[in-house]
Amino acid sequence: MSINIGPPSVEELRPRITVIGVGGAGGNAIANMIEAEIEGVDFIVANTDAQALAMSKATRLIQLGAHITEGLGAGSLPEVGHACGHNVICAAALGAGLALAPLVGSLGLRVTVVGTPAEEGGGGKVGLVEDGFFDDVHAAMMVHPWAEDVAEPTIIAVRQLSITYHGREAHAAGYPHLGINAADALVVAQTAIGLLRQQLLPTDRVHGIVTKGGDAPNVIPAETTAAFMVRATTRARMDEVVARVRRCFEAGALATGAQLELVEEVAYSDMRHDRELAAIYRRQAEALGRTFSDEPSTPYSTDMGDVSHVVPSIHPNIAIDAGGAVNHQAGFAAACVSPSADRAVFDGALAMAMTVIVMAQDESVRARLLDRV
Ligand SMILES: [Zn+2]
Ligand SMILES: [Zn+2]
Repeated sequence: MSINIGPPSVEELRPRITVIGVGGAGGNAIANMIEAEIEGVDFIVANTDAQALAMSKATRLIQLGAHITEGLGAGSLPEVGHACGHNVICAAALGAGLALAPLVGSLGLRVTVVGTPAEEGGGGKVGLVEDGFFDDVHAAMMVHPWAEDVAEPTIIAVRQLSITYHGREAHAAGYPHLGINAADALVVAQTAIGLLRQQLLPTDRVHGIVTKGGDAPNVIPAETTAAFMVRATTRARMDEVVARVRRCFEAGALATGAQLELVEEVAYSDMRHDRELAAIYRRQAEALGRTFSDEPSTPYSTDMGDVSHVVPSIHPNIAIDAGGAVNHQAGFAAACVSPSADRAVFDGALAMAMTVIVMAQDESVRARLLDRV
């Protein structure tokens, strides 16, 4: 297919995305766009239901991912709110869609901006992948706020574990010998995990919290619960570590006589960056004045990893100046409604839009992506 328009300049694109806000405005803006039915681009707030799947049939070339939680841009983390900057993700994707809307015909593209829920736990995109949402999509992209710009951040696999110990309550002073202490089971398990760390790889991660430790200090706890996460560079390695962590929880049950209920919740895959698309994105972002780190980024996980296993994908980090604060801290949440976050929305939207334009017009990139589906 021949495409006979030159790429629009940054100046031409700019006016089209100045409507973007951050904070609550990110989610509201998507809601407004859905109501406005901007011509040329599909705006979807996706969950894994049939409606989202039906919408995906209209999608052909490019999928821009945005995180929003149920309720359009509601808080994403307990207590610290938007401390992962998902409002910026949402608004940047929206801006990219707005910038591309008038160009899709000339470029020979279909563009869908999709808002997906539950990246911090629950895996909205995992369900979309399983439902075949990306089957007819040729590329997917999103940006994620971080402390620095990185084109190919280190994104590792993760599995969430839900743990419950069932013991038996008893008067802690009068009849402790009749109790089965479910809190002690958790202590043994966490001690075993602490010792296990000596045998883990530096790239493995095991972390969690006790979500219920007991009901009263004078009652032997009959039920305790915990939520843990196991991460590793690949799903295969993650499965190995999950098996070892499971034995630590079994040790708690064995030592105390409590019964263990361990549920392996949703897992996210590691990210397979499309290196060619990541390089295009980097060049576009550098042209906007961003500087990239070539050091491997600190690791994290996202359900975009699962998307990257079925469709060529990028998930660059976009820097927000948070004065030294990092993701999942209150200081980062504050920075996500600052002028620096506004700039990240603007630059992320522009860099993604320009990446799409380049990939649509570069014969070899386009042919490679089209060849896939
Ligand atoms: Zn996060
Ligand atoms: Zn995040």
